[in-house]
Amino acid sequence: MGNYQICDFCGNLSERRSRKMCPSCEDAYFKIRSIAEVKPDMMVIDISRQTGISVSKIIAFAQKGFFILKEGTIEGLD
Ligand SMILES: [Zn+2]
Repeated sequence: MGNYQICDFCGNLSERRSRKMCPSCEDAYFKIRSIAEVKPDMMVIDISRQTGISVSKIIAFAQKGFFILKEGTIEGLD
């Protein structure tokens, strides 16, 4: 598969990238990140509602170390 990889988050095949995720998941990651930077107190459930990105995906990012979750909010960024 050389220049391709399976996305860790949605399973889509995409070109190999620095982060182990496809362009659409990377887009989701940056959306979440930009909200968490501006509104660190925003609950994950509200971030999900605002972005249309599922809570389970946000948690998956956290499990891979992209975010640190605490009491329903994003506590830290990588
Ligand atoms: Zn993906």
